[in-house]
Amino acid sequence: MKLPICYYGDPVLRKKGEKVVEITDDLRRLVADMIETFDENNGIGLAAHQVGKPLALFVLRKYIHREDDKWDVTEPIVYINPKILEYSDEMWVEEEGCLSIPKIRLPVERPVRIKVEATDLEGKRFVEELEWQNARVVMHENDHINGVLYIDRVEEKFRKPAEAALKAIKQKTEQK
Ligand SMILES: [Zn+2]
Repeated sequence: MKLPICYYGDPVLRKKGEKVVEITDDLRRLVADMIETFDENNGIGLAAHQVGKPLALFVLRKYIHREDDKWDVTEPIVYINPKILEYSDEMWVEEEGCLSIPKIRLPVERPVRIKVEATDLEGKRFVEELEWQNARVVMHENDHINGVLYIDRVEEKFRKPAEAALKAIKQKTEQK
């Protein structure tokens, strides 16, 4: 079932995600619904906060660079109680967008590579090393579960021109 998205201005987006203690049928249903929700919104990832559940949980699809230089995406990957273990010193800047902040894209500087640990839906802990876009998506989603939005990380000079549009989203959310 496609779930309604929580937009910028919704206090749930600023909550610290609670640790998942048990993988229940309810959690599995939530994950399936989250996948449906980001696919239908043409997103690549979604944190539980964005559908109103402040949990340490996000789902995403990874990008795969094909030999013919086109990009595929993987099956959805579930990250429960994730922890980023290492960040590279090397940084890069790329525009990000967010389903909770529609129609806005702004550049964010992030590390190129990370090592992340998480639990999958079977309850197994896994560790993976990611780079470039895939690392970026994990850091973006991991921020969500800590109540952080990518716009918090945008340099003032880039954020300023978007400030009015951001305010409009926030006001619309707060009016509901
Ligand atoms: Zn987001």
